[in-house]
Amino acid sequence: MNGNKGKKKLRITVLILSVVLVTVMFALDRAGVVDFDGDGVFSDFENSDILTVSFLDVGQGDCAFIQSGGETMMIDTGENSAFPVVEDFADSNNIDCIDYIIATHFDSDHTGALKRIVESYEVKNLFVSNAYSSFNSSAFTDCVNTAKKNATKVVTLSGEGSISFGNAVVNTFAPSYETENENDLSIIAKVVFKDTSFLFTGDAEKAEENLLIKNGFDLKSDVLKVAHHGSDTSSSQPFLKAVSPQFFVISVGENNDYGHPNEKCLDRLYEFTDRIYRTDICGTVTAVSDGAAITFSIKN
Ligand SMILES: [Zn+2]
Repeated sequence: MNGNKGKKKLRITVLILSVVLVTVMFALDRAGVVDFDGDGVFSDFENSDILTVSFLDVGQGDCAFIQSGGETMMIDTGENSAFPVVEDFADSNNIDCIDYIIATHFDSDHTGALKRIVESYEVKNLFVSNAYSSFNSSAFTDCVNTAKKNATKVVTLSGEGSISFGNAVVNTFAPSYETENENDLSIIAKVVFKDTSFLFTGDAEKAEENLLIKNGFDLKSDVLKVAHHGSDTSSSQPFLKAVSPQFFVISVGENNDYGHPNEKCLDRLYEFTDRIYRTDICGTVTAVSDGAAITFSIKN
């Protein structure tokens, strides 16, 4: 008798616990925390917990859109003439607010469309390097003033910094040292999402690469946006070794006047991997990270 009573009690307890568990599962599912597929199996975190990086085909120039946890970041904007490419991408991805823009440096192939972007979209934060104030670029000053007029917060970076973005962190390095070469003052941005990382290098050349190594900036990354469109003056062997990427992306225009990407530079990249995505060949290159692995797709 006692044994039967004990079994009955156990069955009731299991039943109550099951009801509680199912209720909690549905509550979490409604909250979007888990995906409950109805047969008692929890799947992983919902799909929105990914990071997407799109390297837009803006011809000779750089422009990347990054999305994470409902926030949007741009790193560089491409030339002013590439604004329709930005507009198309924003339209097809329902983007009307850009939370962060990092302007790596002020060459027009990186920030030419910046003024129109701050006029056309709600841009919450614009990150620029302190080092460029000494260059007195009227085009840049115009961009900054237009941004301020449109209620964009302009943040000046100097040295190492960190931006909390969506479910990711962006570690930045904005060098300040004596140089005539503004490429070598490019803001460096390492986007870290769980176990995956993407390194953006603007047009940094060997002097800045050496400085980054000397300063001990953590360069190791899964994806390297190759600096300066694959110029031979960038991507030195020691720098590539410090990054040791699994993938390269080269943002470069078809038949450009500079001969980018340079053959010698490409040879150095091939020593690491042949997984090299070029916007002149692939069109827009999109990388999706689930925090553990990165998958690429292209759209011509
Ligand atoms: Zn450039």
